[in-house]
Amino acid sequence: MVRVTCLGGVGMVTGSSYLIESAAGKKVLVDCGLFQGGKNMEERNWKEWGFDPARISTLFLTHAHIDHSGKIPKLVKDGFQGRILASPPTAELCSIMLLDAAHVQEMDAEWQTRKNKRRSNMEVLPLYTTEDAEASLRLFAPIEKDKIVEPEPGIRARMRNSGHILGSSVLELWVEEGRAPLKMVFSGDLGKKNQLIVQDPHEIFDADYLFLESTYGNRLHRSLEESKVELMEAIQYAVSHKEKVLIPAFAVERTQELLYILGEFQRAGRLPKIPIFVDSPLAIKATQIFRKNKKYYDKEAQAIVDQGYDPFDMPNLRFTESTEESRAINKSEGSAIIIAGNGMCTAGRIRHHLKHNLWRPGTSLVIVGFQAQGSTGRQIVDGAKQVRILGETVSVKAKVFTIGGFSAHADQNDLLEWAGHFESNPRVFLVHGEPSASEALAAKIRERLGLDVYIPKWKERLVLKPREMAVEEAAEPEALPDFQAAMANAIVELENQLKNLKKEVRSRKNMGEDDVDRLKYIEEEIKGMIEERRQ
Ligand SMILES: [Zn+2]
Ligand SMILES: [Zn+2]
Repeated sequence: MVRVTCLGGVGMVTGSSYLIESAAGKKVLVDCGLFQGGKNMEERNWKEWGFDPARISTLFLTHAHIDHSGKIPKLVKDGFQGRILASPPTAELCSIMLLDAAHVQEMDAEWQTRKNKRRSNMEVLPLYTTEDAEASLRLFAPIEKDKIVEPEPGIRARMRNSGHILGSSVLELWVEEGRAPLKMVFSGDLGKKNQLIVQDPHEIFDADYLFLESTYGNRLHRSLEESKVELMEAIQYAVSHKEKVLIPAFAVERTQELLYILGEFQRAGRLPKIPIFVDSPLAIKATQIFRKNKKYYDKEAQAIVDQGYDPFDMPNLRFTESTEESRAINKSEGSAIIIAGNGMCTAGRIRHHLKHNLWRPGTSLVIVGFQAQGSTGRQIVDGAKQVRILGETVSVKAKVFTIGGFSAHADQNDLLEWAGHFESNPRVFLVHGEPSASEALAAKIRERLGLDVYIPKWKERLVLKPREMAVEEAAEPEALPDFQAAMANAIVELENQLKNLKKEVRSRKNMGEDDVDRLKYIEEEIKGMIEERRQ
């Protein structure tokens, strides 16, 4: 049997991570994400792992987003020495994102320490440092998509395109279990068909267990075309008031998608002649990685390249790298489009732009990404009249445009369609969603696809057997040393087999003597094995 401990990304959208333990004692991780969205959530990043990172041989990484990769440097700091298997663009994107995350951690700790000094002298340490991030980058081993790899005996894996961001993958994972391997599929974050830039999600037909994301399990996105119209409205609103268009956006994918659409507007002669700023050093580097990885583009993006354009460039576009350049934007008069991180308005340069513009009537605030509970962005979307930004209370006078159609996530229909390709009736675990989203999707999957669905809880340990499932109480992992746990599991399984066998012997009346003898013999043998293992 295989045990899967849900370390994060269950009942919530951040902190994705699963520990997979085979009966043979192999331990691998799928994703190692940071918890984000408010203080309570972030405290989880400091909790004990519940296992020894030094004993993890392989980490499979579905994609570069921090909610899937952001705790890797901490894992390495705490002893992980194995390999990190990811697609080549994921590895490249992580090379900038993990360093950036380390920098944010260091800055945060420094700020907290300074703040504490006024009260006590407690020094606050960062979750991890730039050095830890650099050490983790040395462990990346890129693997090409669609190829089966066997990082160690008994464990095989294949990455398929998930259509979410550049290089994002669905993971197919086979763990050898006696006669037949047990196959798990981790959707990672799943995109949708006809998404900008990236290719459509790969369809998969076979799995014993499916770990499916459910970020938008209760929602249907508006179409991309409608969203483009809304974006144009937001731009025109601010331009007509000579104010700014603020777009908080994740540095990876969303920023490039926005540039891609603005480029379309520009080439069609529809974009007002105002400056466009990408005010995020991380987004600048990410855009360079996008430009390098053209082979991962879909047909439409490829066609733009073939016509001689850069899909992420325009004459009036400026990438501002230094803080001086960033500050200068706020002194500038008149309209401009400002794309800056982070996407949930909880950190990054967007906070400065919000402080300067959110209180100005005529400003457009364009929300294009998911806003986690507790984040500043979510408060604004939920209609807050005032929010705290950089230690100040700022009124919300800007017009807020919430545009859902740019999501890099599948919506309810997309998720149902993708899950509907499985022909093997997998058991489904719904993960990576807030409870209301997961529950709504669970009901739809049961109703439309007739599959068994379970929504795991944080730290819950699932026991998977081929075509069977059991849920253990949420227990601290590693309560028993490994081999003892494996033995205990084996005994339970043998006892169950014995029970079934006895039942069968009793119920089958018209069996030949040979059959009865044979069954008795098997029964004796199992009893013997149990005795042996108990000693
Ligand atoms: Zn993602
Ligand atoms: Zn995610």
